[in-house]
Amino acid sequence: MREEVLTSPAIWFCLVCYRCYAHCPQNVNFPDLMRVLRYLAIKGKYVTADIIDRINEIDKRLQILRHDLIKYDVTRQKR
Ligand code: SF4
Repeated sequence: MREEVLTSPAIWFCLVCYRCYAHCPQNVNFPDLMRVLRYLAIKGKYVTADIIDRINEIDKRLQILRHDLIKYDVTRQKR
């Protein structure tokens, strides 16, 4: 199922936040599995450079959004 897995958009959904790993009773390191699958997808040219650029842009926007939300929330609590 190599091609089916490495072409699936599902491997890009994980935020690699490690919450599942921190709570997994079986110590399954799911985020690192996702990282390896992404590496294999890129290395095997299962994803185009355009898709990687778009995913990087989404990650960048999410970081900005997270920064702004935390800044807003912390500032609001100080009042
Ligand atoms: S690391 Fe685990 S909890 Fe975090 S987004 Fe990925 S699958 Fe979900």
